[in-house]
Amino acid sequence: MKSQLKERIDNLLDSAKLKRTGPRKTILEILLACNRPQTADEIVSAMGNTRPNKVTVYRTLESMVEGGIVHKAFVEERSQHYELADKCTEHQCHPHFVCTDCGHTRCLHDVLVPMATSAPAGFIIERQQVRLQGLCPKCNQAKS
Ligand SMILES: [Zn+2]
Ligand SMILES: [Zn+2]
Ligand SMILES: [Zn+2]
Repeated sequence: MKSQLKERIDNLLDSAKLKRTGPRKTILEILLACNRPQTADEIVSAMGNTRPNKVTVYRTLESMVEGGIVHKAFVEERSQHYELADKCTEHQCHPHFVCTDCGHTRCLHDVLVPMATSAPAGFIIERQQVRLQGLCPKCNQAKS
């Protein structure tokens, strides 16, 4: 692991007051390396030979969700997709695009959606997550 990356991962864990364990570091490395949300299954298979069992991966992910450094981005085909929280603000996640044809998912860091306002009396909005559906460039091209 490059030292810069290692430092970034250590800083993330420190900021969440989480112990720097092997599985946490490996999962963060995987999430940092890809720019789209990953399911627990994808994370497990990316871990290669060092992979712990899926239960451990789930628990590790949950501890980092609680620590606020990993977000549950969305559920697609009944699988929770996880990602690093570093591209989100405190109350708002960046929008996610899901292709209705091939299921390709993508983070849309540059698409701005205004934060919801005027919640009904008594409701508190803690986090806004927006999901956009449509065709990815590949499927769009195939159709036209
Ligand atoms: Zn987020
Ligand atoms: Zn597509
Ligand atoms: Zn994302």
